[in-house]
Amino acid sequence: MPAPQLATNTIAANLDRVRAEITAACHRARRDPAEITLIAVSKVHPAQVILEAYAAGQRHFGENRVQEMQTKAESVCGLAGASFHLIGPLQNNKTARAADLFDAIDTLAEEKTARRLSTAAAELGRKLPVLIEVKLSPEEAKHGCAPADLPALLRIISDLDGLDLRGLMTVPPWSEDPEVARPFFRQLRALRDQHVPDFPNLRELSIGMSNDFPVAIEEGSTAVRIGTAIFGRRAKPTPTPE
Ligand SMILES: *Cc1c(COP(=O)(O)O)cnc(C)c1O
Repeated sequence: MPAPQLATNTIAANLDRVRAEITAACHRARRDPAEITLIAVSKVHPAQVILEAYAAGQRHFGENRVQEMQTKAESVCGLAGASFHLIGPLQNNKTARAADLFDAIDTLAEEKTARRLSTAAAELGRKLPVLIEVKLSPEEAKHGCAPADLPALLRIISDLDGLDLRGLMTVPPWSEDPEVARPFFRQLRALRDQHVPDFPNLRELSIGMSNDFPVAIEEGSTAVRIGTAIFGRRAKPTPTPE
């Protein structure tokens, strides 16, 4: 069978296919597909693709830059029930804007940022759902909290009034072979399992992207972050956050 021609497919058809693949992976892993949140990663693409995906029933979206979300906010603010996740690193000088623009921050990695975000969220009367990003990949460019620093960060964040700590997130080294990611997914799950007795709300595991989400689901993912398989290839590489 020839490979599907992504470019000629509509966003709705791509979403259908990704949802079917999530369901199939859940069946293989004997899991309930309702346990998996599909986050459609719309970064770099215009706001129009969010509207199209929303019309096809998609509700969770991922953006990796505060600035970019701000430019799209006006176009998408009327989408009832839509939820926007920050999936790129959060800088200290953008916590107030992030608390206002996003419904969830999936990449907290530092105490200072967490404290500032909590204060900003509390001022807006919000309790923001957050994940801690853990750096398991040795690559220099990867962001996140070192596993050794995780216990202290868990304690700090769980005490902050403006934040609702829900789980962990990681980005494994990129590879065409999804099996390369598996040990990193396992390691994140082991960290979650290790800490859940002390932090009972630490349930979420945000793992899995276009090239490896079936493996992530086998390893316990509760949220997959999928861009390319839904919206096609991005026009330019994601700019490295300053
Ligand atoms: C861009 C991005 C994704 C989506 O990647 P695809 O390979 O396009 O599915 C997922 N997670 C993070 C953190 C990203 O920056």
